[in-house]
Amino acid sequence: MCEKKMNKPSLKFNLKPLNFQESPKNNTEKPPSDSTDTTRIPSRPTSSTSSHRDLSTGKLHLSDTKVYKFTSNDLIDRGVIGEGNFGIVCKMEHEKSATIMAVKRIRSTVDERCQKQMLNELDIVMRENTCPHIVKFYGALFKEGDCWICMELMDTSLDRFYKYVYHKLHQCIPESVLAYITLAALEALDYIKSRWQIIHRDVKPSNILVSRTTIKLCDFGISGQLIDSIAKTRDAGCRPYLPPERIDPIRATRDGYDVRSDVWSLGITIYEIATGYFPFREWTSVFDQLQQIVEGPPLRLSVDRLSNNCKDFVNTCLNKDENQRPKYKKLLEHEFVRKATTSQQAENAADYFSEIIDGLSENTDTFELYYYLPSDSSATLTPR
Ligand code: ATP
Ligand code: MG
Repeated sequence: MCEKKMNKPSLKFNLKPLNFQESPKNNTEKPPSDSTDTTRIPSRPTSSTSSHRDLSTGKLHLSDTKVYKFTSNDLIDRGVIGEGNFGIVCKMEHEKSATIMAVKRIRSTVDERCQKQMLNELDIVMRENTCPHIVKFYGALFKEGDCWICMELMDTSLDRFYKYVYHKLHQCIPESVLAYITLAALEALDYIKSRWQIIHRDVKPSNILVSRTTIKLCDFGISGQLIDSIAKTRDAGCRPYLPPERIDPIRATRDGYDVRSDVWSLGITIYEIATGYFPFREWTSVFDQLQQIVEGPPLRLSVDRLSNNCKDFVNTCLNKDENQRPKYKKLLEHEFVRKATTSQQAENAADYFSEIIDGLSENTDTFELYYYLPSDSSATLTPR
């Protein structure tokens, strides 16, 4: 049995979801010019045909042999799956192929040239995705200023999954499953970096999706670029998985975004799913967040139930000095994830996912958005 006590959960952020009924935005803003980001997919040279691309018509690549031209009118809305800070995710059906998919609709503030570039980038990601731990993209288009991203429908996301396990069932996710999730997430992050030169920049439980057989990473690349254009206007306090070097105002503007920032976010994510709690107490201000993450003692996972290998892995990811934080290749050699590489481990994890998803789908309760570190567990925050 796990620790059951919890702080009163509070709302994640105080931002309202976007209102998609609003009239289209006038897209006069400049495309994001992220000087620190040298890691986006290089865009393909714009051919004369693609420069005339109709952005409200896209191609759905459901498989190598099933490719459809589509517009938003070809998709039937089957209800909202979830809402984030930048948009809404709906279950939709592509009638012609009878395919059910997840469609993420994000309010875009970028101009037409940038919209074209994003669709071209997504085409590349779609064609080349051979990693089993990256969600499949089917296609994208723009409708009235919103970007619609069609992707494979998964059963749930890791945030809902762990909250159900810890706070409804009052159980813990077994360590072997934690190791499998960590390995899969690492492989996906390593893949997007080495194959497409993409740094995710938003690693967190809600961006790791769960099906009955495996887990998959989502929300990088194209949506990252859209999100950047919005996120730049918001302070770090709205982005709780950011590492110290991205929160500290001096270092954040000076240094470019490095994969090791994603390694920190992965560490927080694993900490959270290993304990059932977001590892910091609730922040009342950005200053508070700065004090805890930048100036406070290093965060340490120190739960007796977990092996030293597991704790060492997480604590290595949570090194406050990014230069001391290993990159993916090194982390993939860590004993904690090496133990998860067997097909037996994958099968066991799949059995577990299935069992939990069965329970989750029968349970229609909504879950609180955040469970913060309980106030009596300061023992987990010990100086190194
Ligand atoms: P944020 O906006 O801060 O990034 P978020 O990741 O929760 O938060 P969205 O990316 O908009 O926001 O996703 C909303 C929810 O929709 C997710 O929490 C997840 O549960 C669900 N979801 C997203 N994509 C899929 C998918 N492909 N299949 C099934 N569920 C999905
Ligand atoms: Mg998301």
